[in-house]
Amino acid sequence: MKASTPWPAAALLLTSLAAATAGDLRIGAATTKITPPLGVPLAGYYHERGSEGVNDDLHSRAIVLEKDGVRAALVSLDLISTRRAFVEQARQLIEAQTGIPGGHVMISATHAHTGPILPDASARDAGVGEGGAIANGYLATLPELIARSVNLANDRLQPAQASAVIGHEPSLTFNRRFHMKDGSVGWNPGKLNPDIIQPAGPIDPAVPVVFFETPKQEPIATYVNYAVHLDNVGGLQISADLPHTLTDSLAKVLGKDHVTLWTAGTCGDLNHVNVNWPRPQKGQENAARMGIVLAGEVLRNWPNLEPAADGPLRVRSTIVSLPLAPIDEQDIEQARFIVRTGNDRGRENFMKLVKAYQVLDVYARQGKPLEVEVQVITLGDDLAWVSLPGEIFVQLGLDLKLDSPFRQTMIAELANGSIGYIPNRRAYPQGNYEVVSARCAAGSGEMLVEAAVRLLKEIRIANENPTVKADLN
Ligand SMILES: [Zn+2]
Repeated sequence: MKASTPWPAAALLLTSLAAATAGDLRIGAATTKITPPLGVPLAGYYHERGSEGVNDDLHSRAIVLEKDGVRAALVSLDLISTRRAFVEQARQLIEAQTGIPGGHVMISATHAHTGPILPDASARDAGVGEGGAIANGYLATLPELIARSVNLANDRLQPAQASAVIGHEPSLTFNRRFHMKDGSVGWNPGKLNPDIIQPAGPIDPAVPVVFFETPKQEPIATYVNYAVHLDNVGGLQISADLPHTLTDSLAKVLGKDHVTLWTAGTCGDLNHVNVNWPRPQKGQENAARMGIVLAGEVLRNWPNLEPAADGPLRVRSTIVSLPLAPIDEQDIEQARFIVRTGNDRGRENFMKLVKAYQVLDVYARQGKPLEVEVQVITLGDDLAWVSLPGEIFVQLGLDLKLDSPFRQTMIAELANGSIGYIPNRRAYPQGNYEVVSARCAAGSGEMLVEAAVRLLKEIRIANENPTVKADLN
């Protein structure tokens, strides 16, 4: 298998010609610290655990793009998820402070498990104890902190050129669902489990990279996307996980003012656990190893970066109504009881708790479909950034990339709000954790892929017609 995906020679010739006129692209990048106060409960598990220290700070990382007067922003947060409410508030502040339309801002989360919980109206967060007040206080400050990073990036807009490459790193990410000898599909079955037959789904080893620099070749920012679940650290210290070491490693080469913006690709059924490697994989050393290897893949491909084709910056988004997962109303009383006791010890109790939260959240919607946003930002004919609103099974991302008319499509999951796990249709009858947890019905993920591909195709057609306004919203 090739180590990287070079673009065809004809495309290189065209893009080289285009690069000569790409002076009107402007890029600005910035990071803002968003570390919560100590004591805030950490996210990602089904029991409360207060933070006791800071290993490394959490950040909001922003890249603002401007082309022919159109501006858009890419934002990545070192947080477990995004909530629709703070995304909307941040967008309003950004629009008021910078003039960048709120709808042109893509806000995604890295899914750091060693960051704060982000309480919302869900059944799971309703049970949060004393730490909930700290988390709520923190949540109230987030929109301003996010806006600050975009504002700073906007202030730093300067002439820039973009180049891109797709790297390949299959050694850090694994499908965590497995066909087991008893005929079931297992979830995180454990290292060296003799009952494992084979993974029940693929991985996505692609490492799409976009590098922005000044015309004098001074680095501004690097966008890196990779599909792996960020639960590498554990413990009670706040940490950004892998992006911390990735950023530090790239800064050694590209300078400390250079901004690294990492986003999580479609990794709803992936994680970092190699079941064939007996060594435990948890803690800062594991996050550091992952970040260094990923930085190595980015830097190894530096000579393979090719100028991105010149062309308009376009933004488009749509709201998709997703059907709710079916629930049995007879389960509601039992679900309330299970949530009250809150026992997540042992696989059986844990799965009952997961199911109980799902039943209560779906019931609370009283049949109202889940309204979610799919957003697309494109630069020229080569680069496309897509937002999807949850933890997306990897097959959906692979399908989206295959159907995309753009050469390099980058999907940020947990973006512009999240509805939790979104499995592909094939996974639903297989059951287990993510499927039990999913609030949306089978087919929802495919609807999101269809919506994204439709937007990408509309933009690609518009690119062929220069009279079409860049902002197609
Ligand atoms: Zn997780």
